Amino acid sequence: MLTVGVAMLQGARHEHMHSVLSAAEKLGLQVKIRELRKSSDIEGIDAVILPGGESTAMKIASKSEKLFSSLWKEISEDKFPVLGTCAGAILLSQQELIQTKIVRNAFGRQKESFQSEIRVEIGESNSFQGVFIRAPRFKEGSDFPIAWLKDEVVGVKEGRIMALTFHPELTTDTRFHEWLLTEAIN
Ligand code: GLN
Repeated sequence: MLTVGVAMLQGARHEHMHSVLSAAEKLGLQVKIRELRKSSDIEGIDAVILPGGESTAMKIASKSEKLFSSLWKEISEDKFPVLGTCAGAILLSQQELIQTKIVRNAFGRQKESFQSEIRVEIGESNSFQGVFIRAPRFKEGSDFPIAWLKDEVVGVKEGRIMALTFHPELTTDTRFHEWLLTEAIN
């Protein structure tokens, strides 16, 4: 039985839970989801998801309970694989848990939110529906790309940390969540 922690302080969490459960079903794995609100909730988790939302609000919300400071420590020690989307990717970069630099809200106003087909290197197909919501950008590119919008890197994988500027949990394609579970059992 795998336990997947979803940071519950703010943001789009239930869609991730749904994606994890359907990824688990596809892979024939037994998975339990743990909502992470305080640092002691981290104990014994096998993987973690940092959802999108508002990264500044998340930081404020985590201060009193120290969830994030404990999470950053465990992630830096490679205790479990991580999937961070949008604001989650921002936090991973700001904490220097990934080397790739990120810029918040970096798409112009008109394009603050949009959908576009992107190219990915995960699973069997190279095509993925990218849902971008007030998305950040990896402005200097990355040495560890895994997803591209035209020529621009929109997803990176650094070791067991995946950081995406788009929202796979808002599609029915569970490849990224399957990656997380596969890393967790290996
Ligand atoms: N704009 C948000 C931030 O800066 C991220 C948006 C999202 O997670 N969908 O934190």
